[in-house]
Amino acid sequence: MATSLLRVCPPGELLRPLAVPERLLLGPGPTSSPPLLLLAPRRGWSSSAGARGAGAMLASVLPPQVMDEIKAGIQYAFQTRNRLSLALSGSGHCAMEAALFNLLERGDTVLVAINGIWGQRAAEIARRVGANVCELLKPPGKYFTPQDIEQGLVQHKPLVLFITHGESSTGVLQPLEGLGELCHRHGCLLLVDAVASLGGAPIFMDQQEIDVLYSGSQKVLNAPPGSAPISFSERARDKLLRRKTKPPSFYLDMGCLANYWGCDGEPRRYHHTAPINSFFSLREGLALLAERGLESSWERHRANCSLLCQGLLDMGLELFVEEEQARLPTITTVRVPEGYSWKDITAFLMDKHGVEIAGGLGPTAGKVLRIGLMGCNSTRDSVERVLGALRDALQRCPRSRL
Ligand code: PMP
Repeated sequence: MATSLLRVCPPGELLRPLAVPERLLLGPGPTSSPPLLLLAPRRGWSSSAGARGAGAMLASVLPPQVMDEIKAGIQYAFQTRNRLSLALSGSGHCAMEAALFNLLERGDTVLVAINGIWGQRAAEIARRVGANVCELLKPPGKYFTPQDIEQGLVQHKPLVLFITHGESSTGVLQPLEGLGELCHRHGCLLLVDAVASLGGAPIFMDQQEIDVLYSGSQKVLNAPPGSAPISFSERARDKLLRRKTKPPSFYLDMGCLANYWGCDGEPRRYHHTAPINSFFSLREGLALLAERGLESSWERHRANCSLLCQGLLDMGLELFVEEEQARLPTITTVRVPEGYSWKDITAFLMDKHGVEIAGGLGPTAGKVLRIGLMGCNSTRDSVERVLGALRDALQRCPRSRL
C-alpha cells in the first residue's frame, strides 16, 4: 500500500537553513539595510507585537497612525504638501505603472524623455495603456536641456511628460529646474521618476511644479525592496477626476488607494492586504531621513560621490558621465577598463572582498560598472573599501592582450 499520495518530495535544499552571506551592497540597489530597518519598528509597535526581529509579523493590519506617519515622511522627502501622497505595495515598477495607468487613457499623447533604460520602460508601459507615445531621445550619459523639452512639447503637444531624475542605468542626474513651469505653460503634466535619486539629490516637488513624483524603498531609504512612495499634485488629481474610463488596474487605482490611505476624507475601506512589514521598514527609512535632514543627506551623497569619482580617476579609470554636474550622487558609472571583463571584476569584488557592485544595464550593458553609495552606504568608509577592492581587481583579474 502506498504510504503517501505525494509524488513530489519536500525539497532537501529548502530544509537546510537559509544561508545569507555578509555583504556590503554597493550596487545600484537594493542597498544594505541598517539592522534597525530590518528589525523595524524601533519604537512603539514592537512591544504589542511581542516578537522583535526580521520575519516577525508586526500587526495584522497597518495601523492608521503608521500610515499617516509614512505619508508625512513622504511629504517631507518629496517636499510637497500634496494630500494625495502615499506608499504603493510594490517596487519602483509598480509606481511607474501606477503613475502611467492613472494619468493616461487610450489615445492620450505622452512625451517620454529617453536617455537610458527608464525612459524605455516608461514608453513600453504607456504603449500597453494604448497611449500615443512620442519619444524624445538623448544619448546615454547625457541629459535634457529646457530647450530640448520645449521643442518636444511644441512638436508633440503631449498631456504628460515623463522624465527620469536619477538615471540609474547611465549615472546621469537630470536637472529639473524650470521644467514644471515649462510643461504647465504648454498644458502638459510633469511626471518624474526619482527612484534612484530621492534623498540623494535635491528635489522639490511643489517648488519645481512636479505633478507626479515617485520613488522606491530600496535605494537611499535603505529599506527592503517592495514599497514605493508616490504623490500627485492637485493638477494631476484633476486629470484623474476627469478620466472617462477607469484605470486599467484595480490594484493600482489611485481613487481606491487614496481612500485606503485616508487621503480622501472618507472612512477607510479595505482595498488589499498591505505588505505590513515592508511598510514598517519604509516608515523607519523615512524616519532616519527626517532625523538626519534632507539637506545633510544631499550634501553627504554629493561629497562621497565626488570622493569616489576622484579615486576612480586617480586609478586611471574613465567616468561614463563626462560633465561633473551631471553625475548622479547616488550611482556612479565608470567605463569597464580596456581589456577586462566586467563580469570578472564584479565576481572578484564579491568573492574576495564581500562587496557587491553591478555591471551596466540597458544601453550601458557590458560598457560600465555601476557603484552605488546610497543612504547609510554613502560613507567615506564604503568609498575606501570599494576603491581598495577595485585596485586589487585590476591587479589580479585576467586581462586580455588584444
Ligand atoms: N526607476 C529607476 C530610476 C530605477 O533605478 C529603478 C530600479 N533600479 C526603477 C525605476 C524600477 O524599480 P524596481 O526595480 O524597484 O521595480
